[in-house]
Amino acid sequence: MSKQSKGAANRLHHPEPEQRAQHARWLASLFADPASLASQTAAAYSELLDEVLLDVAVEAHREAKLGLAPPPPPPAPPPPRPLDPLPGARGPTDVFGQAHPPSAMEQITCMKCGRKVAAGRFAPHLEKCLGGGRQSSRQATRRGAG
Ligand SMILES: [Zn+2]
Repeated sequence: MSKQSKGAANRLHHPEPEQRAQHARWLASLFADPASLASQTAAAYSELLDEVLLDVAVEAHREAKLGLAPPPPPPAPPPPRPLDPLPGARGPTDVFGQAHPPSAMEQITCMKCGRKVAAGRFAPHLEKCLGGGRQSSRQATRRGAG
């Protein structure tokens, strides 16, 4: 390809706005006459496209009517059900069937002093047992203020 024709090809693919407008006016003039080659080519292409689309639509309709269409996707499975409560679990249970939180009346052995404490009272007991909690924080505040 020579330098000149390369430049012409480039101008064809990336024409200036005025050149594009000129090209559009030229195309419009071609389609203005229904007997022109451009008009008849576009009409033939349009007819072919309509024909192909109609074929696809008729075939899809026939398949649906005769039950030849692929079956619809199966319905979604039901959501998983929580497990039954474990034997001995009291109160509300989680999805694994475990009582959570444990019943407040359940006895828990303190790992510090070894006493058995009701589960509902275990947190305050542990605070006292470990020397923290509200009492010691109040004492610390009093110490800091006084
Ligand atoms: Zn304790």
